[in-house]
Amino acid sequence: YVHRVYATHDGEVYPLPINLGTINQFFHAHYTPAEAQKLIAGQAGELAGTDPANLNDKGIQLIGRPLYEAFIKNYTGKQWQTDPAELPAAIIKRLPVRFNYDNRYFKDTWEGLPADGYTKWMERMIDDPRITVELGVDFFDESQPYNKTALKAAGVPVVYTGPVDRYFDYELGDLKWRTVDFKEVRYDEGDHFGCPVMNFSDADVPYTRAIEFKNFNPERHDSQNPNKTVVWEEYSRFAERGDEPYYPVNTDADKALYARYEAKAAAEPNTVFGGRLGTYKYYDMHQVIDTALTAYE
Ligand code: UDP
Repeated sequence: YVHRVYATHDGEVYPLPINLGTINQFFHAHYTPAEAQKLIAGQAGELAGTDPANLNDKGIQLIGRPLYEAFIKNYTGKQWQTDPAELPAAIIKRLPVRFNYDNRYFKDTWEGLPADGYTKWMERMIDDPRITVELGVDFFDESQPYNKTALKAAGVPVVYTGPVDRYFDYELGDLKWRTVDFKEVRYDEGDHFGCPVMNFSDADVPYTRAIEFKNFNPERHDSQNPNKTVVWEEYSRFAERGDEPYYPVNTDADKALYARYEAKAAAEPNTVFGGRLGTYKYYDMHQVIDTALTAYE
């Protein structure tokens, strides 16, 4: 599996990440790599060659103002509802810009998905007689035995992968998180988007992107229903307490607050804090796996 993403903007579909194909389609041009680089450097204006710390300036520096406004500004507005000048530049550094026609979303040497999917992968990991799974048990509910207070008093080692601010009962304040609401849409057609992920760059479409699951598994083509497909639209919003957080917002104020929670976490000797939520980090899956294995070591 090789991840590829497309974006719908102003009635046209463009390849992402922004590459020479995107640039030439956008400007109705046939720039060479060097010409495109020169053009973008000119459009980046006063930000060319600088190393900006926020998403707004970093975005303009990387791709120039017109492409930034077409593909980043409104998507980022929907995804974060936060002034891009307050968001860390690291968010946008996730997206490469390429002056050739390579539209692989990632640049890692190895890329793939678990052969039978993440659900099976998880099920197989916990399929061991030494592992018992208790679902529907609230770690903070003291009326059941596996609660925080009781486990702490007993000195039982705990791996906690919930929100770190929740663990400490929000005593220093709430960290900002984004959550996602999914809307399932079923189409009576074999393929709706022709790709696994379609981003919607414009403000008039209320969702950020749509996922078409069957296109993550082209190798299963023969067993897929040729007349139906399932799509999930992603609607991003601020997470309230009790919502499932997906993304740490990571403004400077959040980072300062997290540093204080992190110090408290370090003082909990028997609890390992893990994952995006436990460490307030915008990890991708491979980083989650890496940090889990490192924590285990
Ligand atoms: N982004 C954007 N337009 C796009 C795709 C991404 O502006 O079409 C920006 C946006 O700020 C987003 C960030 O780049 O939050 C990272 O996007 P990616 O899709 O890599 O993140 P994911 O949501 O998959 O973790």
